[in-house]
Amino acid sequence: MRRLLAAMAASAVLLCGCSPAPKKYSAVYTDVFDTATEFAAYCDSREEFDLYAEALHDELLRLHKIFDIYDEYDGLFNAASLNKTKSGGCPSELIELTKSAVDWYDLSGGKLNIALGSVLSLWHDSRESGIPPAMEDLKPLAEHCDIDDISVEGDIISIKDPQLSLDFGALAKGYAAEKAAELLESVGCADFVLSVGGNVVARGEKPGGSWEIGISSPDGGILTTVKVSDEAVVTSGDYQRYFEYEGVRYHHIIDPQTLMPANLWRSVTVICKSSADADALSTALFCLDEQSGRILAENFGAEALWVSSKGEVIRTEGFEDYEK
Ligand code: AMP
Ligand code: MG
Repeated sequence: MRRLLAAMAASAVLLCGCSPAPKKYSAVYTDVFDTATEFAAYCDSREEFDLYAEALHDELLRLHKIFDIYDEYDGLFNAASLNKTKSGGCPSELIELTKSAVDWYDLSGGKLNIALGSVLSLWHDSRESGIPPAMEDLKPLAEHCDIDDISVEGDIISIKDPQLSLDFGALAKGYAAEKAAELLESVGCADFVLSVGGNVVARGEKPGGSWEIGISSPDGGILTTVKVSDEAVVTSGDYQRYFEYEGVRYHHIIDPQTLMPANLWRSVTVICKSSADADALSTALFCLDEQSGRILAENFGAEALWVSSKGEVIRTEGFEDYEK
Protein backbone atom coordinates (compact mmCIF):
# COMPACT_ATOMS: atom_id res chain seq x y z
CA MET A 1 0.00 0.00 0.00
CA ARG A 2 2.78 2.36 1.00
CA ARG A 3 4.54 1.57 -2.30
CA LEU A 4 1.33 2.32 -4.23
CA LEU A 5 0.89 5.69 -2.49
CA ALA A 6 4.51 6.56 -3.20
CA ALA A 7 4.04 5.67 -6.87
CA MET A 8 0.87 7.78 -7.04
CA ALA A 9 2.65 10.73 -5.44
CA ALA A 10 5.54 10.38 -7.90
CA SER A 11 3.23 10.35 -10.90
CA ALA A 12 1.37 13.42 -9.54
CA VAL A 13 4.69 15.27 -9.30
CA LEU A 14 5.55 14.09 -12.78
CA LEU A 15 2.21 15.29 -14.16
CA CYS A 16 2.75 18.73 -12.64
CA GLY A 17 6.29 18.78 -13.94
CA CYS A 18 5.18 17.95 -17.50
CA SER A 19 2.74 20.82 -17.85
CA PRO A 20 3.90 24.01 -16.14
CA ALA A 21 1.36 26.84 -16.18
CA PRO A 22 1.68 28.72 -19.49
CA LYS A 23 3.38 32.10 -19.18
CA LYS A 24 2.61 35.34 -20.96
CA TYR A 25 5.12 36.42 -23.60
CA SER A 26 4.90 39.49 -25.82
CA ALA A 27 6.52 41.16 -28.82
CA VAL A 28 6.21 44.50 -30.62
CA TYR A 29 6.87 45.24 -34.31
CA THR A 30 7.06 48.66 -35.89
CA ASP A 31 7.82 47.72 -39.49
CA VAL A 32 4.35 46.71 -40.73
CA PHE A 33 1.39 48.87 -41.79
CA ASP A 34 3.12 52.10 -40.66
CA THR A 35 2.05 51.47 -37.10
CA ALA A 36 2.91 49.50 -33.96
CA THR A 37 1.88 45.85 -33.79
CA GLU A 38 1.66 44.13 -30.42
CA PHE A 39 1.40 40.40 -29.94
CA ALA A 40 0.91 38.62 -26.61
CA ALA A 41 0.30 34.93 -26.05
CA TYR A 42 0.28 32.38 -23.26
CA CYS A 43 2.81 29.68 -24.11
CA ASP A 44 4.71 26.88 -22.38
CA SER A 45 8.12 28.34 -23.25
CA ARG A 46 9.92 31.31 -24.81
CA GLU A 47 10.98 29.04 -27.68
CA GLU A 48 7.36 28.18 -28.46
CA PHE A 49 6.37 31.87 -28.38
CA ASP A 50 9.29 32.87 -30.61
CA LEU A 51 8.17 30.37 -33.25
CA TYR A 52 4.68 31.89 -33.28
CA ALA A 53 6.02 35.43 -33.25
CA GLU A 54 8.29 34.76 -36.22
CA ALA A 55 5.49 33.18 -38.26
CA LEU A 56 3.23 36.11 -37.38
CA HIS A 57 5.82 38.73 -38.31
CA ASP A 58 6.56 37.05 -41.66
CA GLU A 59 2.86 36.92 -42.48
CA LEU A 60 2.25 40.57 -41.55
CA LEU A 61 5.27 41.67 -43.61
CA ARG A 62 3.97 39.69 -46.60
CA LEU A 63 0.52 41.31 -46.31
CA HIS A 64 1.99 44.76 -45.66
CA LYS A 65 3.88 44.54 -48.95
CA ILE A 66 0.77 43.47 -50.87
CA PHE A 67 -1.35 46.43 -49.67
CA ASP A 68 1.46 49.02 -49.67
CA ILE A 69 0.47 51.95 -51.93
CA TYR A 70 3.80 53.77 -51.53
CA ASP A 71 6.48 51.21 -52.37
CA GLU A 72 6.88 48.38 -54.86
CA TYR A 73 8.87 45.21 -54.17
CA ASP A 74 10.87 42.90 -56.44
CA GLY A 75 8.79 40.05 -57.82
CA LEU A 76 5.51 41.32 -56.37
CA PHE A 77 2.63 43.07 -58.14
CA ASN A 78 1.15 45.02 -55.22
CA ALA A 79 -1.26 47.91 -54.64
CA ALA A 80 1.46 50.43 -55.62
CA SER A 81 2.08 48.54 -58.89
CA LEU A 82 -1.66 48.49 -59.59
CA ASN A 83 -1.99 52.23 -58.96
CA LYS A 84 0.94 52.81 -61.32
CA THR A 85 0.02 50.53 -64.22
CA LYS A 86 -3.81 50.43 -63.66
CA SER A 87 -4.01 46.74 -64.57
CA GLY A 88 -2.30 43.49 -63.74
CA GLY A 89 -2.36 40.01 -62.25
CA CYS A 90 -2.62 40.44 -58.47
CA PRO A 91 -2.02 38.24 -55.41
CA SER A 92 -5.18 36.51 -54.16
CA GLU A 93 -5.32 38.73 -51.05
CA LEU A 94 -5.43 41.90 -53.19
CA ILE A 95 -8.22 40.37 -55.25
CA GLU A 96 -10.16 39.29 -52.17
CA LEU A 97 -9.90 42.63 -50.39
CA THR A 98 -10.71 44.64 -53.53
CA LYS A 99 -13.88 42.59 -54.10
CA SER A 100 -14.85 42.99 -50.47
CA ALA A 101 -14.14 46.75 -50.59
CA VAL A 102 -16.43 47.14 -53.61
CA ASP A 103 -19.18 45.47 -51.54
CA TRP A 104 -18.43 47.81 -48.64
CA TYR A 105 -18.93 50.78 -50.93
CA ASP A 106 -22.54 49.69 -51.46
CA LEU A 107 -23.09 48.64 -47.86
CA SER A 108 -21.91 52.03 -46.59
CA GLY A 109 -23.89 54.06 -49.13
CA GLY A 110 -20.63 55.15 -50.77
CA LYS A 111 -18.99 56.37 -47.55
CA LEU A 112 -16.24 53.74 -47.59
CA ASN A 113 -14.62 54.15 -50.98
CA ILE A 114 -11.21 52.60 -51.78
CA ALA A 115 -11.24 54.52 -55.09
CA LEU A 116 -10.76 57.74 -53.13
CA GLY A 117 -6.98 57.35 -53.41
CA SER A 118 -6.17 60.61 -55.20
CA VAL A 119 -8.19 62.68 -52.69
CA LEU A 120 -6.65 60.79 -49.76
CA SER A 121 -3.19 61.28 -51.21
CA LEU A 122 -3.66 65.07 -51.18
CA TRP A 123 -4.83 64.87 -47.56
CA HIS A 124 -1.80 62.69 -46.79
CA ASP A 125 0.52 65.37 -48.21
CA SER A 126 -1.33 67.98 -46.16
CA ARG A 127 -0.71 66.03 -42.97
CA GLU A 128 3.00 66.13 -43.84
CA SER A 129 3.01 69.88 -44.64
CA GLY A 130 0.58 70.82 -41.84
CA ILE A 131 -1.61 72.91 -44.18
CA PRO A 132 -5.09 71.71 -45.25
CA PRO A 133 -5.72 71.32 -49.00
CA ALA A 134 -7.82 73.91 -50.88
CA MET A 135 -11.28 72.80 -52.02
CA GLU A 136 -10.38 73.93 -55.54
CA ASP A 137 -7.59 71.33 -55.51
CA LEU A 138 -9.73 68.58 -53.96
CA LYS A 139 -12.71 68.90 -56.30
CA PRO A 140 -10.94 67.97 -59.57
CA LEU A 141 -9.47 64.90 -57.83
CA ALA A 142 -12.93 63.84 -56.66
CA GLU A 143 -13.85 63.45 -60.35
CA HIS A 144 -11.57 60.39 -60.37
CA CYS A 145 -13.01 58.30 -57.53
CA ASP A 146 -15.68 56.26 -59.27
CA ILE A 147 -15.85 52.75 -57.79
CA ASP A 148 -17.41 51.49 -61.05
CA ASP A 149 -14.08 52.14 -62.77
CA ILE A 150 -12.59 49.19 -60.88
CA SER A 151 -13.12 45.73 -62.33
CA VAL A 152 -11.95 42.33 -61.16
CA GLU A 153 -11.78 39.38 -63.52
CA GLY A 154 -10.04 36.23 -62.36
CA ASP A 155 -6.76 37.40 -60.87
CA ILE A 156 -6.70 40.64 -62.88
CA ILE A 157 -7.73 43.98 -61.43
CA SER A 158 -8.22 46.82 -63.93
CA ILE A 159 -8.80 50.52 -63.33
CA LYS A 160 -10.48 52.29 -66.22
CA ASP A 161 -9.76 55.87 -65.14
CA PRO A 162 -6.00 56.65 -65.51
CA GLN A 163 -6.24 59.22 -62.71
CA LEU A 164 -7.96 56.92 -60.20
CA SER A 165 -5.91 55.29 -57.47
CA LEU A 166 -6.76 52.85 -54.72
CA ASP A 167 -6.21 53.22 -50.98
CA PHE A 168 -6.68 50.18 -48.74
CA GLY A 169 -6.02 52.03 -45.47
CA ALA A 170 -9.58 51.64 -44.19
CA LEU A 171 -9.54 47.85 -44.45
CA ALA A 172 -6.06 46.40 -44.79
CA LYS A 173 -5.00 46.26 -41.13
CA GLY A 174 -8.14 44.45 -40.02
CA TYR A 175 -7.94 42.05 -42.95
CA ALA A 176 -4.26 41.37 -42.25
CA ALA A 177 -4.92 40.85 -38.53
CA GLU A 178 -7.61 38.31 -39.42
CA LYS A 179 -5.30 36.43 -41.80
CA ALA A 180 -2.45 36.50 -39.28
CA ALA A 181 -4.74 35.20 -36.54
CA GLU A 182 -5.81 32.33 -38.81
CA LEU A 183 -2.16 31.49 -39.40
CA LEU A 184 -1.36 31.55 -35.67
CA GLU A 185 -4.24 29.19 -34.96
CA SER A 186 -3.16 26.85 -37.74
CA VAL A 187 0.28 26.46 -36.15
CA GLY A 188 -1.17 25.73 -32.72
CA CYS A 189 -1.24 29.13 -31.00
CA ALA A 190 -4.62 29.16 -29.24
CA ASP A 191 -4.60 31.90 -26.61
CA PHE A 192 -3.37 35.23 -27.91
CA VAL A 193 -4.16 38.84 -28.50
CA LEU A 194 -2.87 40.69 -31.53
CA SER A 195 -3.15 44.42 -32.13
CA VAL A 196 -2.15 45.78 -35.53
CA GLY A 197 -2.23 49.51 -34.86
CA GLY A 198 -5.26 49.16 -32.59
CA ASN A 199 -7.01 46.59 -34.77
CA VAL A 200 -7.30 43.99 -32.04
CA VAL A 201 -7.97 40.29 -32.53
CA ALA A 202 -8.38 38.13 -29.43
CA ARG A 203 -8.43 34.35 -29.48
CA GLY A 204 -8.95 31.95 -26.62
CA GLU A 205 -8.44 33.27 -23.12
CA LYS A 206 -5.84 34.29 -20.64
CA PRO A 207 -5.64 32.39 -17.34
CA GLY A 208 -8.61 33.51 -15.30
CA GLY A 209 -10.87 34.47 -18.20
CA SER A 210 -11.37 36.67 -21.21
CA TRP A 211 -8.86 39.16 -22.59
CA GLU A 212 -9.39 42.72 -21.43
CA ILE A 213 -9.03 45.39 -24.10
CA GLY A 214 -8.84 49.05 -23.16
CA ILE A 215 -10.63 51.47 -25.49
CA SER A 216 -8.97 54.86 -25.75
CA SER A 217 -10.85 58.04 -25.04
CA PRO A 218 -10.34 60.54 -27.90
CA ASP A 219 -8.95 62.99 -25.33
CA GLY A 220 -6.48 60.49 -23.86
CA GLY A 221 -6.73 57.81 -21.20
CA ILE A 222 -9.04 54.82 -21.25
CA LEU A 223 -12.75 55.34 -21.91
CA THR A 224 -13.81 51.80 -21.09
CA THR A 225 -12.61 48.20 -21.05
CA VAL A 226 -14.17 45.28 -22.87
CA LYS A 227 -13.76 41.57 -22.20
CA VAL A 228 -13.49 39.42 -25.32
CA SER A 229 -12.25 35.94 -26.21
CA ASP A 230 -12.87 35.20 -29.88
CA GLU A 231 -13.70 38.64 -31.18
CA ALA A 232 -12.13 41.62 -32.87
CA VAL A 233 -12.20 45.13 -31.42
CA VAL A 234 -11.44 47.99 -33.81
CA THR A 235 -11.59 51.75 -33.31
CA SER A 236 -11.55 54.54 -35.88
CA GLY A 237 -10.81 57.91 -34.31
CA ASP A 238 -10.00 61.52 -35.08
CA TYR A 239 -7.06 61.34 -32.65
CA GLN A 240 -5.17 58.59 -34.50
CA ARG A 241 -3.69 60.55 -37.45
CA TYR A 242 -4.25 64.28 -37.61
CA PHE A 243 -2.74 67.73 -37.70
CA GLU A 244 -3.97 71.07 -36.38
CA TYR A 245 -4.09 74.24 -38.41
CA GLU A 246 -5.33 77.57 -37.04
CA GLY A 247 -6.97 75.81 -34.10
CA VAL A 248 -8.84 73.24 -36.24
CA ARG A 249 -8.12 69.51 -36.19
CA TYR A 250 -7.85 67.78 -39.58
CA HIS A 251 -7.84 64.00 -39.25
CA HIS A 252 -7.45 61.09 -41.66
CA ILE A 253 -11.00 59.78 -42.29
CA ILE A 254 -12.46 61.69 -45.21
CA ASP A 255 -16.15 61.96 -46.01
CA PRO A 256 -16.37 61.33 -49.78
CA GLN A 257 -19.33 63.72 -50.04
CA THR A 258 -17.68 66.75 -48.42
CA LEU A 259 -14.04 65.74 -49.21
CA MET A 260 -13.29 66.95 -45.67
CA PRO A 261 -12.62 64.98 -42.47
CA ALA A 262 -15.89 63.37 -41.31
CA ASN A 263 -17.13 65.39 -38.36
CA LEU A 264 -20.01 63.52 -36.70
CA TRP A 265 -17.87 61.45 -34.35
CA ARG A 266 -14.61 61.61 -32.41
CA SER A 267 -14.35 57.84 -32.39
CA VAL A 268 -16.27 54.69 -33.24
CA THR A 269 -15.41 51.29 -31.78
CA VAL A 270 -16.76 48.07 -33.24
CA ILE A 271 -16.75 44.57 -31.75
CA CYS A 272 -17.53 41.60 -33.97
CA LYS A 273 -16.29 38.14 -34.88
CA SER A 274 -14.30 39.12 -37.97
CA SER A 275 -11.50 41.66 -37.71
CA ALA A 276 -11.81 42.40 -41.45
CA ASP A 277 -15.47 43.32 -40.98
CA ALA A 278 -14.74 45.26 -37.79
CA ASP A 279 -12.13 47.43 -39.57
CA ALA A 280 -14.43 48.19 -42.51
CA LEU A 281 -17.35 48.82 -40.16
CA SER A 282 -15.49 51.20 -37.87
CA THR A 283 -14.45 53.43 -40.80
CA ALA A 284 -17.91 53.25 -42.39
CA LEU A 285 -19.69 54.02 -39.11
CA PHE A 286 -17.32 56.91 -38.54
CA CYS A 287 -18.75 58.53 -41.70
CA LEU A 288 -22.40 57.52 -41.16
CA ASP A 289 -25.10 58.97 -38.90
CA GLU A 290 -26.12 56.94 -35.84
CA GLN A 291 -29.27 55.44 -37.35
CA SER A 292 -27.55 54.20 -40.53
CA GLY A 293 -24.60 52.97 -38.47
CA ARG A 294 -26.84 50.99 -36.12
CA ILE A 295 -28.55 49.25 -39.05
CA LEU A 296 -25.24 48.39 -40.71
CA ALA A 297 -23.70 47.11 -37.45
CA GLU A 298 -26.75 44.97 -36.72
CA ASN A 299 -26.56 43.38 -40.18
CA PHE A 300 -23.06 42.15 -39.27
CA GLY A 301 -23.95 41.04 -35.73
CA ALA A 302 -21.59 43.78 -34.53
CA GLU A 303 -21.74 45.98 -31.43
CA ALA A 304 -20.62 49.59 -31.51
CA LEU A 305 -19.69 52.50 -29.28
CA TRP A 306 -19.68 56.06 -30.60
CA VAL A 307 -18.14 59.17 -29.04
CA SER A 308 -19.85 62.15 -30.63
CA SER A 309 -18.16 65.41 -31.55
CA LYS A 310 -19.80 66.85 -28.40
CA GLY A 311 -18.31 64.08 -26.24
CA GLU A 312 -21.55 62.13 -25.79
CA VAL A 313 -21.02 58.34 -25.54
CA ILE A 314 -23.57 56.12 -27.32
CA ARG A 315 -23.65 52.32 -27.30
CA THR A 316 -25.58 49.54 -28.96
CA GLU A 317 -27.34 47.48 -26.30
CA GLY A 318 -25.08 44.45 -26.69
CA PHE A 319 -21.91 46.54 -26.31
CA GLU A 320 -22.53 46.88 -22.57
CA ASP A 321 -22.38 43.10 -22.17
CA TYR A 322 -18.69 43.22 -23.10
CA GLU A 323 -17.98 45.93 -20.51
CA LYS A 324 -19.12 43.90 -17.48
P1 AMP B 1 -9.34 53.53 -40.31
O1 AMP B 1 -8.29 54.02 -39.38
O2 AMP B 1 -9.45 52.04 -40.42
O3 AMP B 1 -10.69 54.15 -40.02
O4 AMP B 1 -8.95 53.96 -41.78
C1 AMP B 1 -8.51 55.26 -42.10
C2 AMP B 1 -7.72 55.20 -43.37
O5 AMP B 1 -8.60 54.81 -44.42
C3 AMP B 1 -7.14 56.52 -43.78
O6 AMP B 1 -5.84 56.70 -43.27
C4 AMP B 1 -7.16 56.44 -45.31
O7 AMP B 1 -6.04 55.71 -45.77
C5 AMP B 1 -8.40 55.61 -45.57
N1 AMP B 1 -9.65 56.40 -45.72
C6 AMP B 1 -9.97 57.60 -45.18
N2 AMP B 1 -11.24 57.95 -45.49
C7 AMP B 1 -11.72 56.95 -46.27
C8 AMP B 1 -12.98 56.71 -46.90
N3 AMP B 1 -14.02 57.55 -46.80
N4 AMP B 1 -13.11 55.57 -47.64
C9 AMP B 1 -12.08 54.69 -47.75
N5 AMP B 1 -10.89 54.86 -47.16
C10 AMP B 1 -10.72 55.96 -46.41
MG1 MG C 1 -11.10 50.80 -40.75
